[in-house]
Amino acid sequence: MKKLALFLALVLMLGVLDAPATAMEDGAFQGAAKGNNADLVVEVVVEGGAIAAVTVLEHSETPGICDRSLVEIPEAIVAAQGLGVDVLSGATNTGKAILEAAALALEAAGADVEALKAIGTAEVEQKADETIETEVLVIGAGGAGCAAGVQANQLGAKVIIIEKQASVGGNTILSGGALNAVNDRSEQALAYDDSVEWHYTQTMNGGDNQGDPLLVHTLVRNAYAGVEWLQEMGMSFEDDVSGLFTVTGGMWPRAHKPSMPVGTGFFDTYQRYIDGHEGIEIMLNTKAESFITDETGKILGVKATGETGNTITFLASKGVVLASGGFGRNVELRTKYDNKWGCLDETILSTNSAGATGDGIYMAAAVGADLVGMEHIQLLPLGDPASGSLSGNIEHDVERRIFVNKEGNRFVNEGGRRDEMTEALFAQTDSWMWIIMDSDCYPAGDELNNFGEPINQLIAEGRAFKGETLEDLAAAIDVPAENLVASVNAFNEHVASGEKDEFGRTLYSTPIDNGPFYAGPRVPTVHHTMGGVRINTKAEVIDRSGNVIDGLYAAGEVTGGIHGSNRLGGNALTDILVFGRIAGENVAAR
Ligand code: FAD
Repeated sequence: MKKLALFLALVLMLGVLDAPATAMEDGAFQGAAKGNNADLVVEVVVEGGAIAAVTVLEHSETPGICDRSLVEIPEAIVAAQGLGVDVLSGATNTGKAILEAAALALEAAGADVEALKAIGTAEVEQKADETIETEVLVIGAGGAGCAAGVQANQLGAKVIIIEKQASVGGNTILSGGALNAVNDRSEQALAYDDSVEWHYTQTMNGGDNQGDPLLVHTLVRNAYAGVEWLQEMGMSFEDDVSGLFTVTGGMWPRAHKPSMPVGTGFFDTYQRYIDGHEGIEIMLNTKAESFITDETGKILGVKATGETGNTITFLASKGVVLASGGFGRNVELRTKYDNKWGCLDETILSTNSAGATGDGIYMAAAVGADLVGMEHIQLLPLGDPASGSLSGNIEHDVERRIFVNKEGNRFVNEGGRRDEMTEALFAQTDSWMWIIMDSDCYPAGDELNNFGEPINQLIAEGRAFKGETLEDLAAAIDVPAENLVASVNAFNEHVASGEKDEFGRTLYSTPIDNGPFYAGPRVPTVHHTMGGVRINTKAEVIDRSGNVIDGLYAAGEVTGGIHGSNRLGGNALTDILVFGRIAGENVAAR
């Protein structure tokens, strides 16, 4: 209260802020608006005619990803005494929902909401242009960029990581966290008859042998060392608790699951390292625009746009690592290169972060980089029908669930390749399917899915459905009960026999026979871009004549040539870890 009085006194004295246009009634008022996943409820407290406090009371936003918005936007509303505050890039839907809910609450308090929308973040004075020198510059604070930056710093290099969004993480922080890596000597590998060589073979086959064998060997051979490296930095995985699992399209139980939700564990680990060490920092809201080269084509640094629109010239004496992610959210690139799906315009949604716009592809191509496999764009059959995101997905692992169409019939090998599953889904009524599971993963009914959402909350929100019996479930999702029951019974027979079914499925664990039963709706969504900048096994970028571009390294989804025509589920997090580290190691060694 003291703070508020002081704040208001300052406002009046300095005349910094406009007073709210209409008098507001004192009290606590609530408003609700749709967030990413469900309604988000905001409470606004009005005292002495001013906005004294704004609090998000309820939300279902993904943990770790929208945390800053949930705190910073309410604070900004109070500080500005208005609703015209900026939403944070990277979490724009959450920000918009907070503002919308706060507007409804303020309307209930009698405020002139339209007037409040005109009062917002004060104009920021543009900072002067500047030149910043470092040894290593990394573009993109996603998983590949942070792995590269941390690795380079561990080897003694001074590193700056620039990130165009207001928060770190990119696609990596949204990911399910499934990370394929085989430790040949482990009991689990023996139990599942897995090996580094089998991981190699499946990766090559899964991508129709269009991946570069040397890059794929590098990927699978260094995967488990990457897991150990993360563990040495304090990251923990669920391996001892739940064992390795098969992620959709992963083809084999070799995925490690981080203990923290979605991809947040990676950034918790990297941030702790960065906070605890000298010579490495992340600059947010800083967008790389183009490379600076000398007359020989050697990369000297990067021109970037800073937070206030100022130009920052980064000079990197050792080199630059490009880790700006894929182009799943760039409709122009998607439609230009796609030669498979024929439907990748803006009408199809994507699982990707707003930052996945392929900036690095344009930047690298402008300095002669070769592009490889750009036509290979991965769709998943697992999009939320409203948002295209993976949130709300009820499945835990491949073995314990089936897909049925609107007629209640199975239509594909649910343990197969992602492209084949998605093609099969497009052929079903309304390109729509239901994931069907029993209670094995949800024994108490309040357990979390892979995206940190409780199943009972998804049901309450109408994003998942539950039935005590299969017949009840069929009624809840409006599919013919006799077909659903027959589909599940036939599946259970194959679980018992372990034999390949008519769709070619071989991955089973337990039958679907433990009620209550669950269903979740899913549609096709753009997920991953396998093509990008050509690299060699040292993560050096290769130009269109086959030569190394001096001083330029690349890692992660911005690169191509590893996953071929179809990426195995769980292999992208391996890719960004392995090649991020290799890029960091080689750039630091210069
Ligand atoms: P990103 O993590 O996307 O990071 C790139 C960063 O660069 C972004 O922060 C972006 O804002 C920034 N950037 C872009 N342009 C610029 C610029 N001009 N200047 C500065 N910064 C820039 N794979 C798996 O293996 N297992 C999974 O469980 C899994 N689940 C997934 C779930 C979802 C919802 C999604 C979207 C993907 C999933 N994937 C998964 C794929 C995997 O997460 C990504 O391929 C991988 O994280 C990409 O990492 P990256 O570092 O290359 O890119």
